[in-house]
Amino acid sequence: MNLPTISKSDFLKFYECPSYFWFYKNRKSVLTKKQLDPFAERLIDQGQHVESKVRELFPEGKMVYSYGEEAAADTERLINEGVQTIFQASFLHDGLFIMCDVLIWNDLFNGWDLIEVKSSSSTDFNRKKEHHLIDACFQKIVLDATGHKVVNVYLVELNKEFVKNGEIILDELFIQSEVTTEIIEREKVVLADIAHAKNILSAEQPTKCDCRYKGRSSHCAAFNYLYPQTPSYSVYDFTAIGSSKKKLAKLVDEGIIDINDVREDHDLSEKHKNQWRVHVDDEAILAKEILQEEFDALQFPIYFLDYETLPLAIPKYDGTYPYQQTVIQYSLHILQKDGSIDHKEYIHRDQSSPLRIIAKKLREDISDQGAVIVWNKTFEAKCNKDLAEANPELSDFLLKLNGRIYDLMEVVRKQKYLRKEFKGKYSIKTVLPVMCPELDYETLEVSNGTQAVMEYENLIFGLYPSEQKEQAFKNLLEYCKLDTWAMLRIYQELLKLLKD
Ligand code: SF4
Repeated sequence: MNLPTISKSDFLKFYECPSYFWFYKNRKSVLTKKQLDPFAERLIDQGQHVESKVRELFPEGKMVYSYGEEAAADTERLINEGVQTIFQASFLHDGLFIMCDVLIWNDLFNGWDLIEVKSSSSTDFNRKKEHHLIDACFQKIVLDATGHKVVNVYLVELNKEFVKNGEIILDELFIQSEVTTEIIEREKVVLADIAHAKNILSAEQPTKCDCRYKGRSSHCAAFNYLYPQTPSYSVYDFTAIGSSKKKLAKLVDEGIIDINDVREDHDLSEKHKNQWRVHVDDEAILAKEILQEEFDALQFPIYFLDYETLPLAIPKYDGTYPYQQTVIQYSLHILQKDGSIDHKEYIHRDQSSPLRIIAKKLREDISDQGAVIVWNKTFEAKCNKDLAEANPELSDFLLKLNGRIYDLMEVVRKQKYLRKEFKGKYSIKTVLPVMCPELDYETLEVSNGTQAVMEYENLIFGLYPSEQKEQAFKNLLEYCKLDTWAMLRIYQELLKLLKD
């Protein structure tokens, strides 16, 4: 039997879950077809920017543009021609396929230095390091097996301490670490794992998987195929049930999957019990006193604030770091005590840095009095902190904004208001249609955050047709405006409920 080829990204899938690896390689058709997540799509795109930036470090390098057998033949040809720096150098050996980000001839030791580029910043280096090492080790094994001796192995990644200031200095933007010893230490184990992966591919289809005992966020696209009876609202939808492994395991072992089958005497956290109770009783929970007290403490005017940001792997604006959530747009609804409502907004329309003008505009639009309502304060508060750092003269105002924040999301997350329709979720896109069915993101041209980021990036740095630009800016403004209007309307609905 001819086994499918295993690439290095396939091999990493094997590391994550051998069963998923089997389905991915042997029966892709049964995997739940998810729409390509735009967020993942953009991450790939950012990764490609990082790789092409790294290539600037080696101006003499030659690129292999083909794939598979053709790429392996092209690589051999470049090597035979004496090319000493190759990008995407490709090799096929015994059912394994690799594409090396950068391969450099080491004259001194008569072999190749392998450079693996990682688009993650060094912030999450420790978490991902093992993955990176396995990835590089897999490549070294194939290179050695094809008769191309590997001398040194390096990982190159973005430097999280880097802050752009004028022309980007590549040696400062990237951190290169030599990991040859770590790779050699892992070689035996990875060789055994490669053999195991090959055995898995030729084995029978897996029938069960460990994710039966894990929360929904761990489930891969094979889960629905393996457990087709799982109802659309199940114990896997208990908020963050993945962190209560024992409780979930007990339910699953008892055969309790449907949320309707849960009983009062099941060992659940108070939060999960609440979620179950609102579902079976069809009655919302409202922590009236707590919420009333919190709302009474909100000072007028109340500002409903939402930022849109542009995170870039390779910073484009001075004063920003890799992947900084740089604010490029905001919407602000202002509610006065007499009930009147005003709206302010700003979107940055060119390639200049938005850091100064955004901070200045916010200062103009937000007075020193009044609560600032956001949805998920961690995000907005970090944006304010970054803006404060870039604008020392306004930092007092910006940092004080964080002290005025009231996070409306916490009302739902902490179950001060809980409806069965939320089904354990607390994003504004879940809560809004339940509480204010007249409002709908789906009617907008731009209907989610990642789409907004991609649209903006394309508008400012891409080849957007100039005659369509004005409409595109309007669409982005509409999207951000709905976020703050949604918060205001949810707040009003909660006020009504408190009065009832
Ligand atoms: S659902 Fe989990 S255990 Fe099952 S195949 Fe997918 S990743 Fe593996």
